[in-house]
Amino acid sequence: MQALGNYYDATVGERTPRPALRHTIDADVCIVGAGFAGLATALGLLERGVKDVVLLEAHQVGFGASGRNGGFVFGGYSLDCADLLAQLGPVQAKTTYAFTRQAVDLIRRRIQHHAIDCDAVEGGALLVNWFRDDALLHRQQRLMAEHFDVDWRFIPKSELAQWVTSDRYSAALLEPDAFHFHPLKYALGAAAAVESLGGRIFERSPAVSIDAGGGGTRVATDAGTVQARHVVIAGGGYLAGLVPQLERAILPIATYVMATEPLGDALHRLLPSRAAIYDTRFAFDYYRKLNDTRLLWGGRISVRDRHPADIAQFLKRDMVKVFPDLRGAQVAHAWGGMMSYARHKMPQIGRLPNGLWYGLGFGGHGVAPTTAAGELLARSIAEGTPLPASFVRYGLPRTFRPFGLAAAQATYAWLQFKDVLRERQAG
Ligand SMILES: Cc1cc2nc3c(=O)[nH]c(=O)nc-3n(C[C@H](O)[C@H](O)[C@H](O)COP(=O)(O)OP(=O)(O)OC[C@H]3O[C@@H](n4cnc5c(N)ncnc54)[C@H](O)[C@@H]3O)c2cc1C
Repeated sequence: MQALGNYYDATVGERTPRPALRHTIDADVCIVGAGFAGLATALGLLERGVKDVVLLEAHQVGFGASGRNGGFVFGGYSLDCADLLAQLGPVQAKTTYAFTRQAVDLIRRRIQHHAIDCDAVEGGALLVNWFRDDALLHRQQRLMAEHFDVDWRFIPKSELAQWVTSDRYSAALLEPDAFHFHPLKYALGAAAAVESLGGRIFERSPAVSIDAGGGGTRVATDAGTVQARHVVIAGGGYLAGLVPQLERAILPIATYVMATEPLGDALHRLLPSRAAIYDTRFAFDYYRKLNDTRLLWGGRISVRDRHPADIAQFLKRDMVKVFPDLRGAQVAHAWGGMMSYARHKMPQIGRLPNGLWYGLGFGGHGVAPTTAAGELLARSIAEGTPLPASFVRYGLPRTFRPFGLAAAQATYAWLQFKDVLRERQAG
């Protein structure tokens, strides 16, 4: 079996490396991390007229989760909508969810405005029911309509074959406003947009220390320094050893993706529609058709690094459970990425007492929330608009690594087990 590397890296085309920071420079705002959170914050600032924005990236633009993810662009957070409603109440829950819907639109507008070629497919996202009981979908549909003002369409079993041909599922809900894209191409397009608006990006420039005293903050890399009025930390699950107050409030957790060899017409027979698909289990599969007729398939989490050959093996097993006809398909790419999770599963968007801004903790549902965070941070920095109370209240509760990591792994295993029990109970 050939199981090599990240599909997005292999298909992004030629990329020109950006320079590393090698001297001392001044900036209005310095952002640490050029994933979606850092890039969206930079774009939000530049679009608001902030002139001097510098991004420091330890590796390359899109090196982290943003260049490795499933490519689903949809509303919501890692915390599910029922919990969001229970925790925030109807008014705050609705506005908090709305930030991510606006972010989906903003991503679309930026793709158009900056002519970002990122294989965007307007096909919606289909939530397929793994269990027999359709009441679950009806409840979700009502919740989304009554409290979040969105219309998810019920697709009965009799129509499901128009979307996906697998016996595994009983029915589905379609979120029509969602789309999917090549996330690394989008990240690179967003980076080019940042530069076209006057922002500067330094690659291979890990921030190694931050001195937030006096009038302004100094961010040192291994070869240079940025002196900035504002500093934003957007290092996701890759942040390590820079800001202990933030890092002890996040758990870096790995998750995995693979892509098959091109499958030709067989793929269109299995997936006649253009929707991106995920299922109703806690430990759900997600997948989508790629333009070159590969199937991109993701799922599972772990606190350990896994070898691509192992990833290919366990994800293929999951895929064959859904599509037995793909038993003979070769896996051509397999890779993992780190997510950053807070204990409460909501993003951490805020400002430390020493003045450092941060946008972290987007978990496994971060494409739209990182863009929402970029807007909120940019508004606060450029215009002084306070950050929404709904985010401030979640705060930075400690995760108590390494026990927190062990607990996260144990919780995942327990919820996986509950998925299996529930499936058996449903007969
Ligand atoms: C495999 C996988 C699949 C996913 N699928 C989806 C999906 O389909 N839809 C969805 O909505 N979400 C998905 N997610 C989640 C989503 O990708 C993330 O929430 C989002 O990309 C996080 O963006 P970020 O900018 O916070 O972090 P990242 O993209 O990880 O970026 C952080 C960047 O900071 C840099 N950095 C860290 N420390 C430093 C430092 N000291 N100095 C300089 N740079 C530094 C890193 O190198 C990295 O490039 C998935 C995640 C993974 C891993």
